[in-house]
Amino acid sequence: MDSSRRMKRMGTSVRRMGTSVRQMSTCGQLVLQDRRIAYAITDRYLKVVEVGGAVPEVLIREGVVDEADDGRTPVRYIREGDDHIRRDDPRTWLGRSLPELVPDLVGSEDALADVLAGKLPRLELCWASREPDAGGATYLTMVDLPYRDQQGRIAGIIHIVQDVTDAGLMVRQLVQNRNELRLLRDRLAEQNLELAVANAELRRLDEIKSTFISVAAHELRTPLAPLRGYLEVLLDEEIGHLNDEQREYLAVVEESARRLMALASNLLDVTRIEAGRVELVLRPADLEALVGTAVAEYGPQWEARSQHLTLCAAPDLPPALCDEMRALQIIGNLLSNASKYTPEGGAIRVSLALAQEEGFLQVSVSDSGVGIPPEDQPNVFTRFFRARTAILTRADGAGLGLCIARPLVEQHGGRIWFESEPGQGSTFHVTFPIADRPAPDLSA
Ligand code: ADP
Repeated sequence: MDSSRRMKRMGTSVRRMGTSVRQMSTCGQLVLQDRRIAYAITDRYLKVVEVGGAVPEVLIREGVVDEADDGRTPVRYIREGDDHIRRDDPRTWLGRSLPELVPDLVGSEDALADVLAGKLPRLELCWASREPDAGGATYLTMVDLPYRDQQGRIAGIIHIVQDVTDAGLMVRQLVQNRNELRLLRDRLAEQNLELAVANAELRRLDEIKSTFISVAAHELRTPLAPLRGYLEVLLDEEIGHLNDEQREYLAVVEESARRLMALASNLLDVTRIEAGRVELVLRPADLEALVGTAVAEYGPQWEARSQHLTLCAAPDLPPALCDEMRALQIIGNLLSNASKYTPEGGAIRVSLALAQEEGFLQVSVSDSGVGIPPEDQPNVFTRFFRARTAILTRADGAGLGLCIARPLVEQHGGRIWFESEPGQGSTFHVTFPIADRPAPDLSA
């Protein structure tokens, strides 16, 4: 039987085997052209009687595989011994036993017998992999189907081999990628764990530090209270007259005690804010009166520096909703900074008006001082940060005022921000929400 007749006959018998086989056949026909499929037909004793398509080179089991000289085709040669080279001719399969030629079938003889007996519709071996001597990997899918003669009797087996290397390599790549991903995920989980441990340790150290600062600040404040009390008694000359020199020295001591007290209070505030332990007592308050109190409090500071202060408040402003002590602290810090970072004889302007943002009042403090360099501006609200211009002025400070002021303002629902140019001065703005009730009349 010539091969075209046999192909035709194979097509007929395959059609009889059902849909999946027909698909296989169609696929086989197509792939045959690409030389990616091969088949072998056996008789009932599994002896190969017909082969077709390109026998995949990976089926070659003997000798050494050599590349063809055109470098791109799958045409290979078997070298048997050193001098005898022959092409792997599919006809060498004829008359040989299928399991002998296809090692993957060894052990499946019973299943093959079932296919031959019509008890099993098909036997399928998927993703059989080969690693040819030339390197790389090849994947094959093999299907064994009953092969029927013209009367429809099972006459043998048709063994179809399809080279599915592309898909196989993709699957292998996918598996590899998945494994790499799993490794990365495990590594990430490990790092997250390490990070969590490191974070917990940092938190623990942070807590120790906060406790330390808090205890230290308390301990500093405790002896300062009687110290300041006795200083006041001395300065008020309650227990005797002071000469000018004594008065001058005691004033220096009092100023130092005041600064130490302020520093201790700021340190305590920082730890309280960090721990979320600051509670505001929000009440309607006359913000203009509060600004006036702050101005009066810091009056001696700019008078001593011959600075000129103007206060400008818009008329008929509504009350603000704020914690008076904290609002005073915030505004006081802005006023103190304006004075500290402005040279002697400079100008400071405080204004109070409705904010652009509806529902808020705005206090702005401008000065004609040293300003803040642009590169330092992002850090101004950071704990212990001091701009280089501040350090150059030798003004005292620990870089805590603004880092306390910002969370306090935000806790009120307001905002704090600034504009500054080195050598030209700065303007700090702070907003407080407007109260929906009038401020109580405290003068009554
Ligand atoms: P400090 O105790 O150092 O004044 P603050 O937190 O109040 O701490 O301010 C942080 C830094 O911001 C200051 O050290 C200073 O460098 C800068 N700064 C604040 N206000 C002004 C201002 N009005 N003019 C120039 N620099 C200022």
